[in-house]
Amino acid sequence: MKKFDYYQPENLSEAFDLMEKFGETAKYIAGGTDLIVRIKQKAIQPDVLISLRAIGSLKGFKVNGGISLGSMALFRDIERSEEMRNACPALVEAVSVLANPQVRNVATPGGNISNAAPSADCAPPLLVTEAVLTVAGPGGERDIPIETFFEGPGKTCMDATEILTRITIPETVGKTGTAFLKVGRVSQDIAIANAAVLMMMEGKTCRKCRIAAGAVAPVPLRLHRVEALLEGKKVDQELVEEAGRVAGSEVQPITDVRSTEEYRRHIAGVLVKKAIQEAMGRAG
Ligand SMILES: Cc1cc2nc3c(=O)[nH]c(=O)nc-3n(C[C@H](O)[C@H](O)[C@H](O)COP(=O)(O)OP(=O)(O)OC[C@H]3O[C@@H](n4cnc5c(N)ncnc54)[C@H](O)[C@@H]3O)c2cc1C
Repeated sequence: MKKFDYYQPENLSEAFDLMEKFGETAKYIAGGTDLIVRIKQKAIQPDVLISLRAIGSLKGFKVNGGISLGSMALFRDIERSEEMRNACPALVEAVSVLANPQVRNVATPGGNISNAAPSADCAPPLLVTEAVLTVAGPGGERDIPIETFFEGPGKTCMDATEILTRITIPETVGKTGTAFLKVGRVSQDIAIANAAVLMMMEGKTCRKCRIAAGAVAPVPLRLHRVEALLEGKKVDQELVEEAGRVAGSEVQPITDVRSTEEYRRHIAGVLVKKAIQEAMGRAG
């Protein structure tokens, strides 16, 4: 593996200064579980890594109605938090099946989202909860709704000097439930497809729903046609079946080493159907 210099700034402004000094030859590193693999594969060859590990303001999470999640929170801590599980079951379900305990001990939601893999397991739960991403750079801070953050595989609307600092999940109102499901070739693998659902119910009627799927398009995708089908309707088995069919037609998958396009369409529909049922059960 190519050698690099490693810096560990203790606050954001030191990190920005280092990034300004080393420019294109530098990369931020969080847990390193994506980045180091890419360096080993020679996909990227940075001369300098600027670690975000020692920046206290990026760590941890708070549940206070909504959730304020530091970009450097550790998956293992999120997975073990009962408070997080109660506040957003879909996110904790996604984190709990992401990779393996060794990876989850060091990997972060900031890295998962900034890496912008179409299969990123944190993305669908954050899309359905309409999370807002706070990004800071030398010029200041901005808030970005997650739906506009991803621009393509590995591409986001952040520039190379910016750091994703915080993920804010708004408080849900009414009788709302969320769920996340994933299918991989084996357990602990990157998703063939994943899906998250948020259902806000009034009796059997869906007042609001948000549906998202991953690994089925160039970016993690909100399924707006499925949402429109469900919202304002009494949800019975027939409508759930129809939602699965529409999900299968709305996704835009490709065939790759993990799966065929056809199977991804099929399984996305199945995951969406099951996640709707799960989220509805929790909304009670
Ligand atoms: C064996 C294995 C299995 C895996 N399985 C899964 C899986 O099942 N599901 C899944 O989704 N992923 C999986 N991954 C990928 C990876 O573990 C996750 O994407 C993880 O969340 C990356 O986080 P990290 O902190 O390690 O990021 P890093 O590798 O440190 O960084 C990833 C990228 O994001 C940038 N970055 C990191 N943090 C920030 C920030 N705060 N602001 C701006 N840029 C930033 C870095 O510069 C880099 O380009 C797996 C990886 C391995 C090695």
